[in-house]
Amino acid sequence: MRRPHRAMRQTQLTPDTVPFLDLGAATREVWPAIEAEFTEALLAGRYIGGPAVEAFEQQWADYCGTSHAVGLANGTDALLLSLEALGIGEGDEVVVPSNTFIATAEAVVRAGAVPRFADVSPDTLLLTAETFAAALTPRTRAVIVVHLYGQVPDMDALCAAADRAGVLVIEDAAQAHGAEWRGRRAGSFGVTGCFSFYPGKNLGAFGDAGAVVTSDAALAARIRCLANHGRAGGSAHYEHELLGTNSRLDALQAIVLSAKLARNESWTEDRIALAKEYRSNLEGSAAQLLTLAPQARHVYHLLVVRVPFREQIRATLAARGVHTGVHYPVACHQQPPLRRFADRPLPVCEQAAGEIVSLPIYPHMTSAQVERVCWELDTALAGEVLADASAS
Ligand SMILES: *Cc1c(COP(=O)(O)O)cnc(C)c1O
Repeated sequence: MRRPHRAMRQTQLTPDTVPFLDLGAATREVWPAIEAEFTEALLAGRYIGGPAVEAFEQQWADYCGTSHAVGLANGTDALLLSLEALGIGEGDEVVVPSNTFIATAEAVVRAGAVPRFADVSPDTLLLTAETFAAALTPRTRAVIVVHLYGQVPDMDALCAAADRAGVLVIEDAAQAHGAEWRGRRAGSFGVTGCFSFYPGKNLGAFGDAGAVVTSDAALAARIRCLANHGRAGGSAHYEHELLGTNSRLDALQAIVLSAKLARNESWTEDRIALAKEYRSNLEGSAAQLLTLAPQARHVYHLLVVRVPFREQIRATLAARGVHTGVHYPVACHQQPPLRRFADRPLPVCEQAAGEIVSLPIYPHMTSAQVERVCWELDTALAGEVLADASAS
């Protein structure tokens, strides 16, 4: 009998393949609610803005515990327009953790300001008051606190440190929908909270989408104006107050987001329960989970562990049908377009980039799948430890 081609065997979906993410299951759950509203909006010709967008904006502000939400085209624009609306640009510096998705720093550079990269806590891989303080200069106007992986860092300490320095806090909450620090929601601490609804995020649209939340009415109005070509609002469609851009939220995406938001708490609780199972399954394992602060409601956008022999482990897992990710393999200050802003080594970010691996986690994942991932991971780790011992 001819053996199947090796590459084909590896990509074949067997019943026990564990995908990194399964968006289809969530879509199937909300599709009946969405379908009728899609038809209505499409036949009424309401594609951009309109009642569906306004309804979602109100729901999203309520969910975050802020008074305003402005729907945007994506999360990167949420960061960029926050900076622009606050007048942060040329000559200004903005502190950002280097362990983040590149969009955080990209927005700072696009705004014309200089990103000052900060290191992170070795326990949570998040910004701390101390690492923030180490990146401060007299030109610092703002800090973008990133709730990476779904965990909000110590906002008591960070907001106090920013306050003392006279620095504005902007939250990059693109991975932290519904996350909390001492019962307060991500997005409600800073002057603005920036969200992405990219399909793979905890609350995801059927394409790109984003939002800014804030309790400052004037700031919300300014961001709304910037996102709509600087239009003043009202009837003067071709009169422009500011030089803005086009970053509006589509009605169809707002419909999807409202339908999914109705389920988001239950999906988030599913993620938290799965993370607990990971934690107990990996007790005593060579794979180390990041620290969970007792004050935090971690919403587990990503389930990150640190492992030795990362590349070999990922390859072994992939061959066994367990798909993983790395968020992120290169720290921001070491990415080619951002290297010119790197002013010192950031040892925690640099070391973590070589050790972290993101394991599958999504609301429709089963406990059996978590067990399987942990078993495969431990087996792969044991194999690498043995190979390493016999090689030396
Ligand atoms: C996804 C993400 C963004 C950017 O959001 P987009 O909607 O993709 O533009 C920004 N910051 C972080 C931390 C993210 O994960």
